[in-house]
Amino acid sequence: MKFVTFDAGKIGAVVGADVVDLSSLAPTAPEEFPPTAMVRFIADYAKNLPRLPEAIERGARKLVSACDLQAPILWPNKIVAYPANYHAHFEEMKVKTGLISTYKADGQGFFLKANSSLNGPSDPIVLPKVQGREVHHECELAVIIGAGGRDISRDAAMDHVFGYSCLLDIVIRGKEERVMRKSFDSFCPMGPWIVTKDEAPAENDIQMSLSVNGVEKQRANTRNLIVDIPEMIKMASSVMTLYPGDIIATGTPAGVGPIASGDKIRIEIAGVGAMELDVVQGAGGGHEVWNKSADQPGGPAT
Ligand code: MN
Repeated sequence: MKFVTFDAGKIGAVVGADVVDLSSLAPTAPEEFPPTAMVRFIADYAKNLPRLPEAIERGARKLVSACDLQAPILWPNKIVAYPANYHAHFEEMKVKTGLISTYKADGQGFFLKANSSLNGPSDPIVLPKVQGREVHHECELAVIIGAGGRDISRDAAMDHVFGYSCLLDIVIRGKEERVMRKSFDSFCPMGPWIVTKDEAPAENDIQMSLSVNGVEKQRANTRNLIVDIPEMIKMASSVMTLYPGDIIATGTPAGVGPIASGDKIRIEIAGVGAMELDVVQGAGGGHEVWNKSADQPGGPAT
């Protein structure tokens, strides 16, 4: 199945070219704050599954192309993100930053990205007004947690995966804290839907690519991950409880590069989905903190 959040907080299933409104299964009204409908739908999925056929048969339909698709999950408990998780990207960042480093996901672990940076598949990436810095695209597979847990073993890890989505981990390069550089509003486009694990390729053979203005920049397969998906779940859950709807950004392959206002970025993940995003210049986002450290190497830079 493919599940979406659309039209200001409704949840739905994608059936053919249509979105079917699943409001009859939604635990909260679309306008409710915080918008937790999809998180709770995932948490109650075992209970929802037998009710899905009838809800899909009876639900109102609308063309996907006529829907305002939002990030499928609007209010996760957390976004876990793994840096330097493909060998080739690790090598390119050593060159770009001048670091002689062993800084990789298998020795460094993960970071968190602000939940409020989530953005929908039809929303633009808004560049902050920060002078003299590059904002980079990072093409990533998002893993969506279904059943939560703590200290999850490698063997059990895939039982905790609900599904997958396309995700961009947008970042300002520089030496400031990674969470700050990666957490601007709109810096985490996700979508266009969640595809459930049973309909997706095996987790160790998922092919992804990203292009800017029609030119391919990144291409990779999850078989080349340094820390694979079961290990990411084991590692994250060794530190903190994972909850239904938590998002894991699995890391980006080689080929990251700058984006600019007017660019069109397309991410495509085989068996998962694709989305094309506009980049626009925003009026806000400046702060003197950025002036103090521009272009200084020395920090983690993924
Ligand atoms: Mn990343």
